[in-house]
Amino acid sequence: MSAHRRITGRLVIATHNPGKLVEMRELLAPYGIEAISAGELNLSEPDETGTTFEANARIKAVAAANAAQLPAFADDSGLVVDALDGQPGIYSARWAGPTKDFAAAMKQLERLLQERGATEPAQRKAHFVSALCVAWPDGHCDEVEARVDGTLVWPPRGTAGFGYDPAFLPDGHTRTFGEMTSIEKHGLPPLGLGLSHRAKAFVKLAEICLDRD
Ligand code: IMP
Repeated sequence: MSAHRRITGRLVIATHNPGKLVEMRELLAPYGIEAISAGELNLSEPDETGTTFEANARIKAVAAANAAQLPAFADDSGLVVDALDGQPGIYSARWAGPTKDFAAAMKQLERLLQERGATEPAQRKAHFVSALCVAWPDGHCDEVEARVDGTLVWPPRGTAGFGYDPAFLPDGHTRTFGEMTSIEKHGLPPLGLGLSHRAKAFVKLAEICLDRD
């Protein structure tokens, strides 16, 4: 495997998802990186044609690095529900439809869980996955992946965060991601070693690619 590369200076954040952009900027803030969003650069969104989180993160990062001629950072993430054979998985965003209606997506999840008789917490296990990729204009890529395990609750609780956060109760906690502040949700050092899938993946990426100020 090729050596990891350190990131300094400017980095394109290859996402058009405002919730993720805010989280990524928060995560990058302590490292003195100038984060520019793909939206600010008017970069088009590539089709996510991969069959894994890792493949889709790479597609987004490589497309942005090539278009901007700068290193680019992308995340692909989603919710994997055991009782639903891994759905919605890489289709987590698409389940909310063009209007990004996550209340409807969470209802749909609940309907399918009820159909399968998954009423006990042990039958409602799920995890979020985050695959991160930093791609460089010359084709070099650094990649990491992490997950956070939990249980789906009904009804959803809390208004913080985005996506499926109000339905997800991380293991070892009494509040859903929707009831946590972003600091709690990420649980980053010095407060913790990463709680959310994205924060855990970010800690791994920081170890190999980032220098603290
Ligand atoms: P994508 O990575 O842009 O394809 O979208 C992933 C989708 O997974 C998001 O739109 C959310 O629906 C869901 N998701 C990913 N991470 C989180 C999270 O931290 N909280 C809640 N939902 C998430």
